[in-house]
Amino acid sequence: AMFEGLAEKLQGALRKLRGKGKVTEADVTEALREVRMALLGADVSLKVVKQFVSSVKERAIGQDVLESLTPGQQVVKVVYDELVQLMGGSNAKLTVASKPPTVIMLVGLQGAGKTTTVAKLAAFLHKQGRRPLLTACDVYRPAAVKQLQVLGTQLDLPVFSMGTDISPVDIARAAVEHANRHGNDMVLLDTAGRLHINEELMTELEDIKKTVQPHEILLVVDAMTGQDAVNVAEAFHAQLGLDGVVLTKLDGDARGGAALSVKAVTGCPIKFVGMGEKTDALEPFHPERMASRILGMGDVLTLIEKAQATIDANMAREMEQKLRKADFNFEDFLMQMQQMRKLGPMDQLLGMLPGMGNMKALKDVQVDEKEMKHVEAIILSMTVEERRNPQLLKDSRKKRIARGSGTSVQQVNNLIKTFEQTRKMMKQFTEMRGAMMGKAKKG
Ligand code: GDP
Repeated sequence: AMFEGLAEKLQGALRKLRGKGKVTEADVTEALREVRMALLGADVSLKVVKQFVSSVKERAIGQDVLESLTPGQQVVKVVYDELVQLMGGSNAKLTVASKPPTVIMLVGLQGAGKTTTVAKLAAFLHKQGRRPLLTACDVYRPAAVKQLQVLGTQLDLPVFSMGTDISPVDIARAAVEHANRHGNDMVLLDTAGRLHINEELMTELEDIKKTVQPHEILLVVDAMTGQDAVNVAEAFHAQLGLDGVVLTKLDGDARGGAALSVKAVTGCPIKFVGMGEKTDALEPFHPERMASRILGMGDVLTLIEKAQATIDANMAREMEQKLRKADFNFEDFLMQMQQMRKLGPMDQLLGMLPGMGNMKALKDVQVDEKEMKHVEAIILSMTVEERRNPQLLKDSRKKRIARGSGTSVQQVNNLIKTFEQTRKMMKQFTEMRGAMMGKAKKG
């Protein structure tokens, strides 16, 4: 899962501080040594790591932190704040032209996920009430035009193409005219890539830029390539001038170094991240939410947004309340699981729940349709009182439940353990959030 190693190590380093009533400078230094190792292990560039650790240190060993009532939590808060800053502070939005159409040019190396991202972005904008025109400017890879057409058909969105014998500059210009005539308020240009950055590619992209003057040039880079992704971004920005970056395949990159370094190294914000191959697997990039996920505090907001896009409004509201509620019972647990199943891959969703991202125990429940059926069967075999009052679950009852659900007592025990851990984590999360919010309001 995303940020797996990093999240685990960072949380490990900070956990030691969190419980302490008194934190010394030496404790902070020791924790930061581990933070530094964790970041380097996640493939964050050395320069960025150094800067990061030194700004955390400067703030964290201040008196108002060490002598506060909850020094450990305050250090975590400093790390959180600095992570947010590192990734750009807040969500960077797309530029929208005052006079439509807004022209968005997507550039990047071959295989980075450009064509897929054009489709994802079109779907995203369409959901917001826009009328995007997908435009096939990649005339070198014949399959690219076809690929875009297929995606457009799938999404029921128009694709503008002129085959592969016309220059990309002319296609781009014609697409903007077409959009003007047909009321498309967004033109998304899928440009050609190359295996490596070369002059021919850059010249072509500069020509398109000069001709259609896009409002937004987005670079698509593959997160799996780690620091290479950052180097590619630096090179494109120097030559072309970028407005933002789309980081793809973050679903497959357990390290996440690129997400942490791109902004710091290039100055360009990450605007979106790709979280899968399907056309709905694009998320606006929110530094606060990402920092929260990395520190195991969950990303309830993104989860709620997904819920709102997927299930009806009443369900979403109910789910929001359940998620925010620290003490929840087996009925809530079951409902959450059933609802969440509709939302997408389970490991991604678990990563958004407070404290659940890196729980080994949850990987057993994680969820494998068959496993899911077992969980469901076990909970349904409990009486209503047992579901609301898990302390009632003594041995004889467990035996009965295992029999009733066609599982074993061990499976029942595992589920209870997972449930208890989840509940504990949610409680911790709420307390921590509370402490932070209190501090944020005062400051
Ligand atoms: P292009 O050459 O830059 O246009 O790249 P494509 O759009 O053809 O994508 C290359 C491959 O990456 C395809 O197999 C895509 O399905 C895959 N891909 C793109 N974005 C993502 C993503 O966010 N996650 C995952 N897992 N795969 C992706």
